[in-house]
Amino acid sequence: MKIAFVVSEAVPYIKTGGLGDVAGTLPIYLNRLGFNTILVLPLYKKIKDKNLELELVERGNLKLGERTFPFSIYRNREAQVYFIENDEFFLRDSPYNTKEGDYPDNYIRFAFFSKASLDFIVKRGDTDIIHVHDWQTALLPVYKRLFYPDIKEKVVLTIHNIGYQGIFSKDVLKEISLPPSLFTIDGLEFYGNVNYLKGGILFSDCVTTVSPSYAKEIQTKEYGFGLEGVLRKIRNKLYGILNGIDYSYWNPETDKFIKVNYGKENLHKKSENKLLLFKELNINFDPSLPLFSIISRLVPQKGIDILIEGFDDIMKLPLNFVLLGTGDREFEEKLMSLGEKYRNKFIPLIKFDESLAHRIYAASDFFLMPSKFEPCGLGQMIALRYGTVPVVRRTGGLKDTIQNYHEKTKCGNGISFDEYDSFELVRSVERGVKIFKDRDVYERIQKIGMSCDYSWDSSAKEYLNLYRRLKEE
Ligand code: ADP
Repeated sequence: MKIAFVVSEAVPYIKTGGLGDVAGTLPIYLNRLGFNTILVLPLYKKIKDKNLELELVERGNLKLGERTFPFSIYRNREAQVYFIENDEFFLRDSPYNTKEGDYPDNYIRFAFFSKASLDFIVKRGDTDIIHVHDWQTALLPVYKRLFYPDIKEKVVLTIHNIGYQGIFSKDVLKEISLPPSLFTIDGLEFYGNVNYLKGGILFSDCVTTVSPSYAKEIQTKEYGFGLEGVLRKIRNKLYGILNGIDYSYWNPETDKFIKVNYGKENLHKKSENKLLLFKELNINFDPSLPLFSIISRLVPQKGIDILIEGFDDIMKLPLNFVLLGTGDREFEEKLMSLGEKYRNKFIPLIKFDESLAHRIYAASDFFLMPSKFEPCGLGQMIALRYGTVPVVRRTGGLKDTIQNYHEKTKCGNGISFDEYDSFELVRSVERGVKIFKDRDVYERIQKIGMSCDYSWDSSAKEYLNLYRRLKEE
């Protein structure tokens, strides 16, 4: 069976967050199960800069509204990845935005990408399932319904984060070749605007999201960002399939980014990574204290506001703290000033650095994810793999992967709390500090975590079943 992933980011080519991890890794696991999966990506500047050996597949022009856009499609043959080139749209420093905010022409950049990808796939004619991801490619099923109503290809849409929907003024409809008849409550209309994700939800054959809990949560007002009603309506074609992580890439026994490899059998070596990290960062924190870390986009979703609120109290505890992240300027600035204030125990690293992220996962004793909502979350799964105990708020995928440790039953792979507030967060950090002092308990939790299996193996099988069912329908 042939699957085409149409997606706005995928490792190892381009990544801004979990979507990139998932879209790059899941196809590898699907292929291991006997599928033939291709990837279609925009040819961004960052990908061009890699100087990959690409071969030209076709050149053409795409008409959207009154305008015509030239494009070229290239192939990275070995990896079965296709790149759609249009320098006006994609030759920019980052995929979606600048520090000032989203690119104002995102509505046409991703409409163009979706339509060009669809035309290409239909022309090839050998695809069974087109799998699109998030709002950036959510127009593909809409275009399919409009321009190719009778083709056999089925479309799966995965919602990685319903907080991002691609909402634009209704004036864009004409420019993206959509008729006014689609601007209704049962179409793409959303409080007077056009909502790309809503279109994708309605016009796909099946909608998935990235954890079973999140699939339920997004049908509620608290988590649905206004689309809860639409999702409740289509709940019979809505599934939650937990993401996995690439266990060969995220493996402390073989990780090339860390100097001292370790595993469950020689866990004592993990702490050498803490000393090395302190050296690398040129800080002289006390290594006998527990090291807490965060690696995250710095946006409200990730609980950065309650972290900042509780920070003075966290800093009163006997611990050290490393934060790696980029995001909202206001958060970045506040965290930098906290870095000044607590120089001897907190270091904020405001950047995106893949290799440093590996060393922080390996060096830390606890990994914090106090998310307000979390569709799946990869950070906690990576932390488990590295014997770093997750401290999380119980929501979405965090709820599905982290079980709060119970002293009585001696079960649980982390620490979790329910209420979204700084008081609960501080209390959970405090609990971590306490647990860290009891080596037996701490190591038990570490080992339970390292024994969990959140690799793609089982989730890829769930996608397999879904694709098969859809194809037979
Ligand atoms: P989201 O997709 O919402 O950003 P996830 O937890 O699903 O959150 O995935 C985040 C991924 O991005 C993880 O692999 C994490 O390690 C990585 N990451 C986030 N911020 C950074 C950063 N500043 N530097 C390196 N890696 C980062």
